[in-house]
Amino acid sequence: MDALEALTLSLSKLPGIGRKSARRIAFYLLKTDNRYNELLASQISSLKEKIRECRICGTYCEGEICPICDNPRRDRSQICVVEHSSDSISIENTGEFHGLYHVLHGTISPLDGIGPQDLSINSLLNRCDGTVKEVIIATNATVEGDTTALYLISLLKEKNIKVSRLASGLPVGGDLEYIDKMTISRSFRGRIEF
Ligand code: ZN
Repeated sequence: MDALEALTLSLSKLPGIGRKSARRIAFYLLKTDNRYNELLASQISSLKEKIRECRICGTYCEGEICPICDNPRRDRSQICVVEHSSDSISIENTGEFHGLYHVLHGTISPLDGIGPQDLSINSLLNRCDGTVKEVIIATNATVEGDTTALYLISLLKEKNIKVSRLASGLPVGGDLEYIDKMTISRSFRGRIEF
């Protein structure tokens, strides 16, 4: 396998990139200015070293605490629970939510051997002390997302916290990352309280 073929193979492993697109990108990189290639290569190789999980909410950021947790103007009485760091970006882009986030890093999925202990649930419960009044569960509209939401609702209800879930308008099986801003905004405003 030559270098071009090897790069094509590596690129084809990226999400959403098929064999054809991978080949097109590899040819593009072969022709493009090498300064760009060097920049891209160094950004990729230093990514894991620079980006880490926020100590409070678990979203990816540079440094110990993310800019949202660090922002004194954010509403500390609301926590929006998401599956992945990328979901908080989707919600943030709607401009609808002004509270804080909590990233679970997945969902309860017995078939894949993922239980509550594998997710950031204890840290969520620890955050739900006196200042938090509402937890908005924004897990995806999938079987695993629903299972996780129900589990969290049962735990949070014991703490006497208002718990709501994004529901209306979100397509079944929908992944927040791919749903448009308007739909997320609407489902935020029409969230259902448990
Ligand atoms: Zn944070």
